[in-house]
Amino acid sequence: MKTRKDSEIGKTAASPEDTFLNPTPMLDELESGPWPSFISGLKELAERTRKPILRGVLDQLEYSYQTRTGYWRGSLVTVQGYGSGVIGRRSMIKDKIPEAAEFHTFRVQPAPGLHYNTRMLRNLCDTWEKHGSGLIALHGQTGDIMLQGIEEENVQDCFDEINQAGWDLGGAGAAMRSATSCVGPARCEHACYDTLKMHYRTLTHFISDIHRPQYNYKFKFKFSGCPNDCSNSIFRSDMAVIGMWRDAIQIDPVAVQGWIEKNGIDSLVNIVINNCPTRAFLLQKGTIKIDNKNCVHCMHCINVMPQALSPGKERGVTLLLGGKSVLKVGTMGGSMIVPFLKMETDEDIDNFIRLSETMIEWWNDNGFDHERIGETIERVGLKQFLDGVGLEASVDMVSRPRNNPYYKSEY
Ligand code: SF4
Ligand code: SF4
Repeated sequence: MKTRKDSEIGKTAASPEDTFLNPTPMLDELESGPWPSFISGLKELAERTRKPILRGVLDQLEYSYQTRTGYWRGSLVTVQGYGSGVIGRRSMIKDKIPEAAEFHTFRVQPAPGLHYNTRMLRNLCDTWEKHGSGLIALHGQTGDIMLQGIEEENVQDCFDEINQAGWDLGGAGAAMRSATSCVGPARCEHACYDTLKMHYRTLTHFISDIHRPQYNYKFKFKFSGCPNDCSNSIFRSDMAVIGMWRDAIQIDPVAVQGWIEKNGIDSLVNIVINNCPTRAFLLQKGTIKIDNKNCVHCMHCINVMPQALSPGKERGVTLLLGGKSVLKVGTMGGSMIVPFLKMETDEDIDNFIRLSETMIEWWNDNGFDHERIGETIERVGLKQFLDGVGLEASVDMVSRPRNNPYYKSEY
């Protein structure tokens, strides 16, 4: 494979008829595979917008591949009144590739349920193309809209414009981070509470902690309307709020009959009954019965027969605490901390917020610098935590939750 000499890095095209971009033979290799390539997207954007910052980034990436070294250095970049929300990136080889000397990222908070209207999105894209590179990632690991690539001198003007349009920055550093929520009752019949309202109310309450980092480390909420956990809260948030019911699964006998007529009794046995993890789903004298005391709320039967079965009527949330992705000491699933909390009224949401504040305060008092709340609980013990926040121990609590988010064992 042909690689460029150092002297060719950052060299611009000879004439306007030439391609805007410099040769990037190693990056070109990445375009040859069967999957859509981020390199193709970057090149297309750079050719269309003719922004030098994008050409510089491609040059720097090519150089990184050649030398097998990353050259971005984190730094602090802020806008007035905020301590976080902009991820600073400065190049360590700006003398070699000055076009990519700075490539800061805006973290823009997502709307609950990731619902946007096209006018807002068009405005955001226009503002971003005006002040920044035009490169957008929807949605980052944080859930934010990531506007990637802006120089420091343009940061304040860009923020003012997107803020005027109704957007706000998300968290970064040792702060409350942006939350995400599933579509919930807006578009899903399984939702056991209003994920959208709870997301909005909770994040509005903690807005000051999002804008001004003051925790030991990051803290994330995610809201899923049922145990299907579409917002991936168990492994991707410190506080997973998951919709739950505590009475019996609702059964519509007519719809059950219709399902059996359409799919056959063998399908009922092989797909539903045999896959119930606790054998709580039964077929007795031709009718289905659910042993609700032994149901572990896995959602399998409801997912397979959504017209015939639905979550019970007494609905609320289960709270799991301490989940996180890899970082320093490995992946950790959240531990169940509150089995059931009613979530029907504004007062219920207020109670949840108060409980969350108590937990965060305990963590701020007892955690080390750069320690997630799950790591603090693991270090001092679950009992210390429960005593500290005034919660009762429950047999449902496990001291060591799953730590592999990718592998699901057979039931
Ligand atoms: Fe629907 Fe449950 Fe997924 Fe939310 S988590 S979108 S309620 S299936
Ligand atoms: Fe069984 Fe899961 Fe259905 Fe409960 S929700 S009855 S555990 S399949």
